[in-house]
Amino acid sequence: MSTMKAVVLRDWNDLTVAEVPRPEPGPGEILVQVTACGLCGTDLKMVQGKFQERGWPPSLPFVMGHEWGGTVAEIGPGVTRTDLAVGDRVVGENHIGCRACSNCRTGRYNLCIQAGKTEFKLYGHTAPGALAEYAARPEVMLHKVSDAISDAAGALVNQGSLTVHAMRRVALQPGSTAAVFGPGLLGLMSTAVAKAMGAAKVIVVGRGSRLGLATDMGADHVVDYEASDPVEAVRELTGGLGVDNVFECAGNPAVVDQALGVVRRGGKVALLGLTGGKATPISPDKLTLDEIDLLGVRSSPNAYPIMIKLMETGAVDVGPLLTHIYPMEGASEAFAALESREAIRPIVQP
Ligand SMILES: [Zn+2]
Ligand SMILES: [Zn+2]
Repeated sequence: MSTMKAVVLRDWNDLTVAEVPRPEPGPGEILVQVTACGLCGTDLKMVQGKFQERGWPPSLPFVMGHEWGGTVAEIGPGVTRTDLAVGDRVVGENHIGCRACSNCRTGRYNLCIQAGKTEFKLYGHTAPGALAEYAARPEVMLHKVSDAISDAAGALVNQGSLTVHAMRRVALQPGSTAAVFGPGLLGLMSTAVAKAMGAAKVIVVGRGSRLGLATDMGADHVVDYEASDPVEAVRELTGGLGVDNVFECAGNPAVVDQALGVVRRGGKVALLGLTGGKATPISPDKLTLDEIDLLGVRSSPNAYPIMIKLMETGAVDVGPLLTHIYPMEGASEAFAALESREAIRPIVQP
């Protein structure tokens, strides 16, 4: 059996680079040589054992990684796609749903009713991830990308696609206004994608050096919540009206109240960040009397092709975000840069 190098979680908080069996592409699968894999907060929590209850990972040792791209290395038996050949560059989704339940059949495969069942594969969470030299995936999960998207940039398509889904959830209109809370990767991508889709004014609320990056990614205004009251500041920047859409990307329950404070009457609030199970009080009357739509946003159903186009055409330039790139041996260092918040998105290039 041939082997490959992979970043293996041996025990909680114990990562190592090891030789593991190289996956063989099964029926309908394509083997991809991984060229880049981003690390996110979910990966970090998995390393720390904080998602054990969810079965992420189901057992140890485990190979993580779900924000990734690579080059087609081998086409498995029975693959029907004719648009992919060995050597093509691709990015990969991590699940496709069961393709049979009512949600999957209406395109909402991010909400597959079978998800969570033991046989359901969520790659990088319940099935082997892409923090390795190779990954085998069902053909339908892969999307071809052109050379206009670098290997490292390809690792950002996953989170970018989630923000495309968020724009669809709020039905973002050209000329509209938006506030983005939390300039992490999701917030910065939301900023760039909202601008690319025609938002006239995007205001980013956060603190520190990430606000400079928000400007680089297209923010029209930034608000430092340590220097001024964010609700007042956003209201002031919109002539007292509030914004059409709010994107909560901080994953902070206290921010939900601020989001409701800055949205205009009849506006929409999209929640992209996870709070880790924390609760927050919400005024139902505010939602009712101002007809505020409060929308959850999960994953990126049918959004990869849009994000790829936005990046290939230059409508979204992720260049400013590609600041921390590591070889596979530097994976522990990459996780440390994520934990210290030094890096927005560390990327490992096997
Ligand atoms: Zn992630
Ligand atoms: Zn399904």
